[in-house]
Amino acid sequence: MERRRNGKEASKPRFTSPSITYDTRSMTVFSERETVSLTTLGDHPRVQANLCLPDADEGYQYEFLNSEEWVYTESTLHYRGGDWYLHLGFRKAKPVDTGSTTTNGTVLGVDLGVNQIAVTSTARFFSAGELNHTRREFEKTRSGLQRTGTQSAHRTLEERRGCERRHARHVLHTVANGIVEEALKYDCAGIIFEDLEAIRTQLPEADWHSQWAFRTLKNYVEYKADIEDIFVETTSPRNTSRRCADCGFTDESNRTTNDFECQACGNRNHADYNAAKNVAELYLRRGQQSSRRRGVSQYALKSGSRTPS
Ligand SMILES: [Zn+2]
Repeated sequence: MERRRNGKEASKPRFTSPSITYDTRSMTVFSERETVSLTTLGDHPRVQANLCLPDADEGYQYEFLNSEEWVYTESTLHYRGGDWYLHLGFRKAKPVDTGSTTTNGTVLGVDLGVNQIAVTSTARFFSAGELNHTRREFEKTRSGLQRTGTQSAHRTLEERRGCERRHARHVLHTVANGIVEEALKYDCAGIIFEDLEAIRTQLPEADWHSQWAFRTLKNYVEYKADIEDIFVETTSPRNTSRRCADCGFTDESNRTTNDFECQACGNRNHADYNAAKNVAELYLRRGQQSSRRRGVSQYALKSGSRTPS
């Protein structure tokens, strides 16, 4: 849906007569159930079909379907003699570990917020000023138009809402590009966000609009990072704003609005920057299994990196 709203076509099967080509967005294979779900043209829901695989358990189809080393890719559906044949395409799966640096890979921590939409552990700040400004302008227009209450006022309101959303998406695309650029610049294997569901309860000042912006931003980053072969994972935001990223001391009194001052070691920093370092730090500490699988053990700082002890 996002893709379609950005003016590009959503993924639909393409007719290359007499067969239809499917990609991984228009087709889902459920190998354990031996079924496939296919997008159809028009507004019909997806079609679920059983895969009739050759009987022999040793059949080569199973080797591919049940292997972690292979993932299905572009496939074609043929209609022949009253039956449908699906020619499944496969490609080698990307290795999870990033080659030679299997244990000292680096991640980038990202903190999301209401004033700074995103701050990285490398101290790059992305202001939410423009998003919030557009939002306020829209709110002003809305209350005016709602008072008018006419049909044409309603139409204008819908247009403005569309404009506001388009502009917000444009800003979020720019921010997402900046985050991925930052990860590339610091040679990061992954980008770590806070878990968005958990943010909802942790950030009472983040209204639905901020929640929408966080979700959209994360989607954009995931899409762009995937192209660069960078993984995106999340960690719980618990204590990211109260914990000192330098010494680990955690206390409510450490944070006062935008400033962070550790009551134990005296470390002073922008609160969101401290939080961004904690996002990466806590991911590496808590998510030991997944971070080990990913081969990452340190996070990028503005200069150098840090390995949680
Ligand atoms: Zn401290």
